[in-house]
Amino acid sequence: MSEAEYLTVQEALTAVLAGVSVLPAERVALLDALGRVLAEDVVARDSLPPFANSSMDGYALIAADLEGASKQSPAMLRVVGDVAAGALPDVIVEPGTAVRIMTGAPVPPGADAVVPVEDTNEAWRDRERPLPNQIQVTRTVKPGDYIRYPGEDIEVGQVILEQGHILRPQEVGVLASLGTSEVSVIRPPRVAILATGDELLPVDEPLRPGKIRNSNGYTQAAQIMALGAIPIQLGIAEDTETAVRQKLEAGLEANVDLFISSAGVSVGAYDVVKAVLEQEGNVGFWRVRMRPGKPLAYGTYHGIPYLGLPGNPVSAMVSFERFARAAIRKMAGHTQLDRPTVSVTVQDEIRSDGRESYIRAVVMRQANRYEAKLTGDQGSHIMTSLVKANALLIVPEGVKYVPVGDQLTAWMFDWPETVF
Ligand code: AMP
Ligand code: MG
Repeated sequence: MSEAEYLTVQEALTAVLAGVSVLPAERVALLDALGRVLAEDVVARDSLPPFANSSMDGYALIAADLEGASKQSPAMLRVVGDVAAGALPDVIVEPGTAVRIMTGAPVPPGADAVVPVEDTNEAWRDRERPLPNQIQVTRTVKPGDYIRYPGEDIEVGQVILEQGHILRPQEVGVLASLGTSEVSVIRPPRVAILATGDELLPVDEPLRPGKIRNSNGYTQAAQIMALGAIPIQLGIAEDTETAVRQKLEAGLEANVDLFISSAGVSVGAYDVVKAVLEQEGNVGFWRVRMRPGKPLAYGTYHGIPYLGLPGNPVSAMVSFERFARAAIRKMAGHTQLDRPTVSVTVQDEIRSDGRESYIRAVVMRQANRYEAKLTGDQGSHIMTSLVKANALLIVPEGVKYVPVGDQLTAWMFDWPETVF
């Protein structure tokens, strides 16, 4: 058995990221692109707004006709027509006249402004109301008032979204407004999940003496799904080379982009996974100076990147957060690979062993700062302290004691307002 290499978190992360590349693009229906990364620039094929339209229910008119108008001496205009949203104006506004207009309706030719209904003696909005013959306007307007001109938001031919942009609801809305029903985005990574261990049972089987349920398979599937990637469950492999090989083979058939396994990588336990990867690819075993989650395997299986996470549920989840998450986000075309972090004031003292430590905590906003309290037992088998946490506090390498009141960086799972 070769000695595991000692790496810092950053060295391990750099090596993991060097082994994965951005996946190819695919064209998908607009809504299927939500949360994904644009693979091409999008050029506006129309201007937005596409035509001059009214921003108010009111009257389209010529601004100069209202010179000197006020409540005391309103301007009087003849009403010559009506234009609803979706309709086309069939009249021209000439001096001394006005056209009733609805929000979003095209401004009729001749008009250079709109006055809201509230500023007339006809302050009614409903379509049923008969068109008045004339109106009194009690204010002045400037040319252009209450008109939304074509191209004010987007000019035709403009690059409106660049390659690499993440599609959120607002981007989906902009693309829809430009008539884009399909977009080219990076395809989601397909990630295989393998649990290893003779002690593991599927979750739907009753517990038996000496056995535990394969919770990592579920945690990891959920982590993968939360990233917009596709989990492929390879199930549980017993601690034999044949079993591990057989499960990994199924992953190859499913065309996965990344293998993630849990357990069987701690010192003295990793021979099985190691033997298979050495025969069918390559592997490095690392002891990362990280807590929790010291053991980590990284390599390839038949050319596909392979990440072997520790077995303890908390170590597995935290190692996934730190390494697998970044790898999956890189493959999906993201450039921001880590969670957002905030600087927090710690409310409990923290002892560490000098490894870079990820401490389960709840971060709360207090006046102008963020404060963090630990969520209890930090054992790597204690899942409930993760359930209570909305963050991991990062104690830097080399630090063994953090007193109350010190500042640490918090790696946020959820925004601080979400307190469990
Ligand atoms: P190992 O890395 O094989 O020494 O496993 C470390 C610890 O993690 C042991 O207590 C295992 O029982 C536990 N463990 C391993 N795999 C899983 C899993 N899929 N779900 C939950 N616990 C696991
Ligand atoms: Mg084991």
